[in-house]
Amino acid sequence: MLPYKTAAAASAAIGRNLTAAESLWLRYSATAPDFLLYSHNIVFLLIVYALAPLPLSFISLYFPNSIRLYKIQPNATPLSPATVLLCFRRVVATFLLTVGPLQIFSFPAIRCIGIRTGLPLPSGCEMAAQIAVYFVVEDFLHYWIHRGLHTRWGYDRIHRVHHEFRTPMGYAAPYAHWAEVVALGMPAFVGPAAVPGHIVTFWLWMVIRHVEAIETHCGYDFPHTPTKYIPFYCGAEYHDFHHYVGGQTRCNFASIFTYCDYIYGTDKGYRYHKSQL
Ligand SMILES: [Zn+2]
Ligand SMILES: [Zn+2]
Repeated sequence: MLPYKTAAAASAAIGRNLTAAESLWLRYSATAPDFLLYSHNIVFLLIVYALAPLPLSFISLYFPNSIRLYKIQPNATPLSPATVLLCFRRVVATFLLTVGPLQIFSFPAIRCIGIRTGLPLPSGCEMAAQIAVYFVVEDFLHYWIHRGLHTRWGYDRIHRVHHEFRTPMGYAAPYAHWAEVVALGMPAFVGPAAVPGHIVTFWLWMVIRHVEAIETHCGYDFPHTPTKYIPFYCGAEYHDFHHYVGGQTRCNFASIFTYCDYIYGTDKGYRYHKSQL
């Protein structure tokens, strides 16, 4: 909750006139408890996973030939609408039963690490720099946790659920055992803990991270997607190979950037596969 109730009080506190975005934020959050603002995350999560995979999934289900050229596993058995719907229902259930309670219990930690909700709002550059750090931190930790999940114990008890989709699709990005959702969700908080920012930056980070996961699992490799121009970016084709090989795979553990797989030598199978094509 903001310590000032009017634009004049806020302007006096920060020593300048409010920008349009700050005036909007003041109106929206002046009387909102911080817990309520933090709880927006679960709502954003549900909206992102309901809407972002929808257009491509719809085309893939009902007009598959129109984009078949870009399908990464063109000979795979097409998924049925019932399978997609079941996947989505299970993802929503996991979010509500796992991520929801986590939101409540992690709130004290969020306060503790110093994520702020007040004014001034962060600049675009500040947000971009912080989110870039969050991506690098999250990617490194995700790599090692994911690699740990590919041990016999981790795979049989937890990670095999995510690999039920040998041919991934957007809705399958968070389709996983609840323990995996928790374990792989933690690294997303480490960057914000190391470099705390504004709650708006935190929201944006979460939304971008999940959109990225949906793209990585979309099952299609479209030319000239903007992410193709990000250095060392994995992309859909890279992670698709990880799903295609399945539980026995010892490569492509990274989810965002390729450099960890390169440094630790876990991209050799993929490189060999590419060289044979
Ligand atoms: Zn895996
Ligand atoms: Zn995956």
